[in-house]
Amino acid sequence: MFDAHAFSVSSSSSLSLDSSAAPAAEPVPFPLGGHGWTAELADLFTPFAEAGLVPGRLARVDRGRADVVIADPDSGELRTVRADTRAVGSAETIENPCTGDWVALDLGRSATARGEGDEPLAAVAALLPRGSAIIRKSAGKASEGQVLAANIDTVLIAVSLAGDPDLGRVERFVALAWESGAQPLVALTKADLVHDAEFVREDVERVAPGVAVLVVSAETGAGLDVLRACLGTTTALIGQSGAGKSTLTNALAGAQVMTVQQTRDVDQKGRHTTTTRELIPLPGGGVLIDTPGLRGVGLYGGEGLDQAFAEIAELAEECRFDDCSHRSEPGCAVQAALADGTLPQRRMDSYLKLQRENEWIASRTDARLASERARVWKLRTKGARDHIRP
Ligand code: GDP
Ligand code: ZN
Repeated sequence: MFDAHAFSVSSSSSLSLDSSAAPAAEPVPFPLGGHGWTAELADLFTPFAEAGLVPGRLARVDRGRADVVIADPDSGELRTVRADTRAVGSAETIENPCTGDWVALDLGRSATARGEGDEPLAAVAALLPRGSAIIRKSAGKASEGQVLAANIDTVLIAVSLAGDPDLGRVERFVALAWESGAQPLVALTKADLVHDAEFVREDVERVAPGVAVLVVSAETGAGLDVLRACLGTTTALIGQSGAGKSTLTNALAGAQVMTVQQTRDVDQKGRHTTTTRELIPLPGGGVLIDTPGLRGVGLYGGEGLDQAFAEIAELAEECRFDDCSHRSEPGCAVQAALADGTLPQRRMDSYLKLQRENEWIASRTDARLASERARVWKLRTKGARDHIRP
C-alpha cells in the first residue's frame, strides 16, 4: 500500500506557499498509511480534498503552532510542515488539537501570522473526528481536561521492573487506557536488571484483566519483537517518569529520537519534563506517540474503571441490589468474594479509591462536558464545511 520512503519523515519545515502549485495529477495511494491514514479517513476527507485542503497528522502542538506530517501534494513524499492551529482552538481543553489528530490543512492560504523568522505557515482548517483520545485532568484547572493524544489504537504502559511495581498506579494507567478507547498493553521494562520478572508479570496480570503483560529490555532487546507484534498502528506510550519510555522509544524506532532523562528540561517547579511530544514513525510501520509523563492522571466517565476492574464489575452483577455500594448490603457478591478470598482486599481498595477520585473529578467537571465531548466533533465538521462553502 505504501513504500519504504513513506517512513522517512523530513524534519525540514520548509514549505512552498506558492498557491499556484497545482495538485499532483495522479493521487499517491495513501503515503500516510504508515501513519494510520485509512480508506475510511480518505472517504471522510473527500469534501475537504475537494476544497483544496490536504490531510495531515499533528506530530506536536504547542501554543497555536503545530508540526504536521503530510504527504507532499507534488511528490507524495512525507514531510513535516509548521501550521497555525488557532482556527481550531488554542485554550487547554479537550476540544483542543493534539498530537495524533488528523487535520485538514490549508497549504495555500497564508496565515496572518508568520512563524519564527521568515518561516511560512500553513493553516489547520479543521480537525477530523477522533476515534480515541487520552485525556487527563489539567494540573491547574481541576474542571478542565487536557487531551494528550488522539486516534490511538494501543496504549502502551511502561512499568519498570527495577523496584517494586506500584500496582495501584498500573491499575490507574490501565483504567485511563480503557477510558481512551484504545487497547491497553503493559510492558515491564528493564528485565535485564531482575531475575523474578515472571513473578512480577503474574502479579501485574492479575490487576489488569484483559490486558497482555510483556517483559522487555531495551538494553538487551529481549521481548522487543513480541512487543512490536502487539502494537497497533498508533501506540501511545505512558508511564511514570524513569519507567524507561524514552529508551524504549529509541529501541522501537531504531534511532535516537528521544533524549533520555538526564538532558531533560526542568520546569519552574523543578520537575523533569519532556518538551517534545512527537509522533515517531516505526520501521515496521505505525507510529509511536511519546507524551510527557502523566502526572495526576484523572479519569473521565467511568467505563474505563469498570473495564480495568472487570472482575468486580462482573461480581456486582450478582449483588441482590442494583445500586449496591458493596459495603454493608445483604446479598453483596463483592463482599462475599472478599470474605472467601477470591477477590483480594487490595484490589477492592484500589477500585474504591479510583472510584472516589472519579466522582470527585466528575463533580468538579462542567456538567455539559461529557455531552459536549460527543457533540464537538460534529460542530467541528460543520465548521469545516462552512469554511469550505462560506
Ligand atoms: P522515561 O523517563 O520513562 O523516559 O525513562 P528513560 O528512558 O529516561 O529511562 C530511565 C533510566 O532507566 C535511564 O537511566 C535508562 O538508561 C534506564 N533504562 C531504560 N531502559 C532500560 C533497560 O532496558 N535496562 C536497563 N538496565 N536500564 C534501562
Ligand atoms: Zn455489592
